[in-house]
Amino acid sequence: MAINKEWHRSDRMPPKATRAQRVAWHAAHKAACGCRAVPMSLRPDVMKLLRSGRKP
Ligand SMILES: [Zn+2]
Repeated sequence: MAINKEWHRSDRMPPKATRAQRVAWHAAHKAACGCRAVPMSLRPDVMKLLRSGRKP
């Protein structure tokens, strides 16, 4: 999948992101863009967020 430049322009990872922020970023990123895989260490939390915390 190609990089979604528009999404990346408006959704930057905070410089000192907490784990929760990184999980939220990767969850949104996974839905919007396919340039990068979710890190293995964050994957369980990202999947959980994608299943339960879906935004309208
Ligand atoms: Zn991306």
